[in-house]
Amino acid sequence: MEILSGLNQAEIEKITDALNASKFRARQIHNWIYLKSVSSIDEMTDLSVKFREELKSVAAVTDVKIKAKQVSSDGTIKYLLEFSDGECVETVLMRFDNRANLTACVSSQVGCAVNCSFCATGKRGFIRNLTAKEIIEQVLTIQRDTGLKVTNVVFMGQGEPLLNLENVLRAMEIFNEDFQIGARRLTVSTSGIIPQINKLAEFNMQSTLAISLHAPNHNIRRKIMKIEDKYNMADLKTSLKNYVDKTGRRITIEYLLIKDVNDTVENAKELAYYLSDIKCNINLIPYNPTEQNDYKRPSNNSVMKFKYLLEHSGKKVTVRLERGADIDAACGQLKGKVC
Ligand code: SAH
Ligand code: SF4
Repeated sequence: MEILSGLNQAEIEKITDALNASKFRARQIHNWIYLKSVSSIDEMTDLSVKFREELKSVAAVTDVKIKAKQVSSDGTIKYLLEFSDGECVETVLMRFDNRANLTACVSSQVGCAVNCSFCATGKRGFIRNLTAKEIIEQVLTIQRDTGLKVTNVVFMGQGEPLLNLENVLRAMEIFNEDFQIGARRLTVSTSGIIPQINKLAEFNMQSTLAISLHAPNHNIRRKIMKIEDKYNMADLKTSLKNYVDKTGRRITIEYLLIKDVNDTVENAKELAYYLSDIKCNINLIPYNPTEQNDYKRPSNNSVMKFKYLLEHSGKKVTVRLERGADIDAACGQLKGKVC
């Protein structure tokens, strides 16, 4: 049985060809899958009943199941999705008041090998990579379930996208071509896998690259992110400058603020100095509690002070709005549990 979600126009044509149907039928099916997000072939109402029956004998819309769904008081929806081999990941839909954007936060792996000290996903270890089809199915599932069209995608769910680069790039191509989501509306977040950042620079990626920096210097970073021992901040800086040179794109620096770990005035000044020659915006993320550690979220006052000090250095600084914390859907809280 062929699964239609994830197939491009040419791949759908192979199925319609085998059923002796025209290429126009393939175009209709493609629209039903990506733009109208139907859940079943029966909903493809501009295909004849006879052709729908033929199609149903060889193909289905999807093989992904919604295992659980939670809606936050702020409108954020978290889904636990099950793939055909029984593995599960979470995917989150975020809506922001007074903005038309609907942002899907997708997972790229089951678990994660990087194992940062503050993150619930890393605690599970690495289970497996997601295929490109499994990545885009997360957005299709959201669209089918809500009847809404996703406008932005961020690779900030479970997993390290740059350790599954081939499938992530393929998924981005499908978001671009089949979902018609512009490259600038896609964001890839990474803990800083330098060789892969260099590859993205060569590839001239036009989507946003977000770096989980989270520390102002090597010693603090290696305490909270083991990856620093493999890819350190000095080399990361060289790689980021090269990325900006090659792509012309501004980078987003993500900085998790953890009370008494990396949130002091000195830390802000040192961070500003480190970033002074990198073309970037800064996104501060106040730590979201997870069960696995004793870190604390800083007070709003110290977040604002940190922000002010960075702004003083001339950077654009935003504080990430917390979404879905009441349903464990906020950054770092995803662990694919239940399954
Ligand atoms: N693996 C990638 C993308 C997924 S994590 C990466 O690390 O960049 C998405 C973001 O959530 C990252 O910036 C990550 O550092 C952050 N995050 C992890 N745990 C968190 C927590 N407990 N509170 C707030 N943000 C967290
Ligand atoms: Fe992996 Fe990102 Fe979590 Fe680190 S923060 S363990 S890289 S998912």
